[in-house]
Amino acid sequence: MNLLRLTAVEALALIGKKELTSSELTDACLAQIERHDKDVFAYLNVTGTSAREEAAAVDQLAEDRPELAGLPTAVKDVLCTRGVTTTCASRMLENYKPFYTATCVRQMQDAGIVMLGKTNMDEFAMGSSTENSAYGPTRNPWDLGRVPGGSSGGSAAAVAAGEAIWALGSDTGGSIRQPAAFCGVVGLKPTYGSVSRYGLVAFASSFDQVGPITRNVTDAALMLRFLVGKDPLDSTSIEHPEKITLPEDRDLSGVRLGVVKELVGEGIDPGVMKVFNETVQKMEAAGAIVGEASLPHSAYALPAYYILAPAEASANLARFDGVRFGLRAGGTNDVTEMYEETRSLGFGEEVKRRIMLGTYALSSGYYEAYYGQAQKVRTLIVRDFEKALGEFDLLVSPSAPTTAFRLDEKTGDPLTMYKSDICTIPVNLAGLPAISIPAGLSEGLPVGLQIIGRAFTEPAILQAAYSAEQLMDFKSVSPLIAGQD
Ligand code: GLN
Repeated sequence: MNLLRLTAVEALALIGKKELTSSELTDACLAQIERHDKDVFAYLNVTGTSAREEAAAVDQLAEDRPELAGLPTAVKDVLCTRGVTTTCASRMLENYKPFYTATCVRQMQDAGIVMLGKTNMDEFAMGSSTENSAYGPTRNPWDLGRVPGGSSGGSAAAVAAGEAIWALGSDTGGSIRQPAAFCGVVGLKPTYGSVSRYGLVAFASSFDQVGPITRNVTDAALMLRFLVGKDPLDSTSIEHPEKITLPEDRDLSGVRLGVVKELVGEGIDPGVMKVFNETVQKMEAAGAIVGEASLPHSAYALPAYYILAPAEASANLARFDGVRFGLRAGGTNDVTEMYEETRSLGFGEEVKRRIMLGTYALSSGYYEAYYGQAQKVRTLIVRDFEKALGEFDLLVSPSAPTTAFRLDEKTGDPLTMYKSDICTIPVNLAGLPAISIPAGLSEGLPVGLQIIGRAFTEPAILQAAYSAEQLMDFKSVSPLIAGQD
């Protein structure tokens, strides 16, 4: 049996029946990492020794196994892990070992996961291709000449390559859903506030959310169950009002589905549109009531995001000054020079660009014109969603305007790169939950379907996504996994 094809739920069932051990599964993932991660570079740091020990410890517990009994899990390197280097793919944090673990990781560990390692990402989660990593890009398991998307590209690639059963990502403007779409896996961005941000290195605090990247929808529901909850260490977190259950076998009867007209037109690749349209037709045939929804201000989402997110980032990244964390540039006795040199050396180009954009937008005299205005746009977008989600139960769009692009194709042009998030960013501005699921292939590359819902309706989103998943006439398995059959 090719263990790398297993979903988390399938693996748990086998472990429960004693037909598989956590050690066997962990070893299978580590062997796949050994085989392919030189090329894929999904991991910045593989914690193989502790993973084997953790797996063996779970296997020792014959009875009373924790619920996620030893599932090998990849963790995006933006999440603090006690004693394990956490770099955010930045030179700034090259040797940073946190003394605490992010709440969401701890909750997963309490439930018994095995951490395989920390995954590559765009530096401080700024980017859409994982090419902004200070340590080199991750490559897409479907085509090593292409990007995996970003910023959680390492996590998505790890899952798609069979180098983990599932993974944690974070999504500020699309960083879970877009790489999930590019790598042919499932990615869920939960409602803002439902997952604690404690221990998630902050990019843009009013947007950031942690969520699952998995092989299928059921696994996403399972992981979400262990991520949600109010955390006294994050005052924006809140108890999820819905119980996160696993989806059931059901069709889409009566589900009012709104196709977002602004996200299916110009700027979306024809190959992506073809897969999207076919998927919506299948959902309609399965009982969904399909109509046209509108988010009239969505054209302003990208410009507003690229004011607000850098503004928040510029404030959040002020803490990296050579004094408190990570890197400190030597060779000077002057404190201001030390700050300047540390930040010049420690941050990459995109991070510096965001800090400059952000400080500019927040500077007195420009504050109202930029930040204030962008906040107003954010409110308009929130209202657009309220209206559309009053008329429909769920909204759908492609997850990204293209399939995975070639390495270096967009690195020279930040604006083109920013546009890879046009479908996902509006959702973050409104703090809503959304999922991306594999919907098909275009020229051999995965295409994602995005399903958006009202705040805290993850169970409904997951249910619809699951029903849609059953309608797909292909199974999204990358050549690197199929190669182990
Ligand atoms: N690509 C977007 C950006 O660069 C979103 C990143 C994210 O969600 N972390 O800001």
